[in-house]
Amino acid sequence: MPSLLEHNESIFAPKIAAKLKAASDKASRDFRSDVVTVPTEGMMEVKLAILNATFNDDIYDPEGDPSVKALEAKIMELTGKEAALWTMSGTQGNQICLRTHLTQPPHSVLLDHRAHIQCWESGALPVFSQASVTTVHPKNGVFLTLEDVKANMTADGNIHFPPTRVVALENTLSGTILPLQEARRISDFVRSFPVPEDCKPVAMHLDAARVFDGVAGEGVQLREYAACFDSLSICLAKGLGAPMGSVIAGTKPFIERAKWYRKMFGGGTRQPGMMAAAALAALENAVQKLPGVHAMTKRVAFELEKLGYLFALPVQTNMIVLDLEAVGIPGSALVEYCSRSNLATFPSGRLVFHHQVTEEVSQALISALGRLMKDKNDGVKLSDEELQSGCS
Ligand SMILES: *Cc1c(COP(=O)(O)O)cnc(C)c1O
Repeated sequence: MPSLLEHNESIFAPKIAAKLKAASDKASRDFRSDVVTVPTEGMMEVKLAILNATFNDDIYDPEGDPSVKALEAKIMELTGKEAALWTMSGTQGNQICLRTHLTQPPHSVLLDHRAHIQCWESGALPVFSQASVTTVHPKNGVFLTLEDVKANMTADGNIHFPPTRVVALENTLSGTILPLQEARRISDFVRSFPVPEDCKPVAMHLDAARVFDGVAGEGVQLREYAACFDSLSICLAKGLGAPMGSVIAGTKPFIERAKWYRKMFGGGTRQPGMMAAAALAALENAVQKLPGVHAMTKRVAFELEKLGYLFALPVQTNMIVLDLEAVGIPGSALVEYCSRSNLATFPSGRLVFHHQVTEEVSQALISALGRLMKDKNDGVKLSDEELQSGCS
């Protein structure tokens, strides 16, 4: 959308402009997740998009809502999928996709043991889809390979075991990339896995919450990546900065059926155009910023390594996962030292970067972690309490 405003001119009253600035300053100091991103004064497109959005009822109006449709069309174009559907959250998107693929038990879903679908969705899968899961530990410690999947597929024919009907992968997973080549190998194998005559082929689902980070980090096309999957669930409210929402994508019949489950799971909405328009503007604004975010993350990781920190996973996109146990630092000490510098972190040691983190704040993070490491080495007693971590 062409800017209707002179650069730096605010369309908002000073009080609202100040509120937006405060929200973005707060986000810039928050390393818990990239869900903390907010629309900023610099993202005029997002706010204008909300004002320009359509107000159709996404359920009553037979043609749906134009702003929602524009967002869905953009995701179809980017993924090369036939159809797409706006959902309230990434959890809802994943659960709708799995429910749509699965018919009736006995059936199971194969996934990484750390998968969001398995670990962070309140146990939704057995509730909504009556599905068992097969959790797999990747042999290489980072991403699932064809060999891992092959060794854990459950075939039809033995009444003790629920056959695998969906293989659900995740890219990125804790900031690490599942390479395109591996996704292709897995996909070719899974889609031709033998099933009984009256059964659909085993489906490939991607928890694509951060797939834009994944493909930008690997330097591949989203379309090529999406071609390996029958369904994807893409988050718009993480590093892309939308206020809320996800989009799922797949074939036309798949999405038509998914609409029933979206309604059933409480995801049918009345005037979602404002949120969808904001999400589309955020998407168009933020994707190009991801390589810069990844570069900043790697620079910080390099500095932390020099300070003596170790990493639990390779730093490939916008996350650093510190191995705090290996360096003998309790998670609560990390939270405390960061909060002294007005920085928010989770005790798990996962540091997430996004386009609202400034160079200055990343320096403040390095300094805080430098003080922590120095005190630890000097034998200062560090706080060690149980604190809760999030993940999303
Ligand atoms: C954030 C996230 C989701 C969805 O989370 P919501 O909070 O429900 O939007 C799904 N998968 C992964 C890998 C995520 O990081």
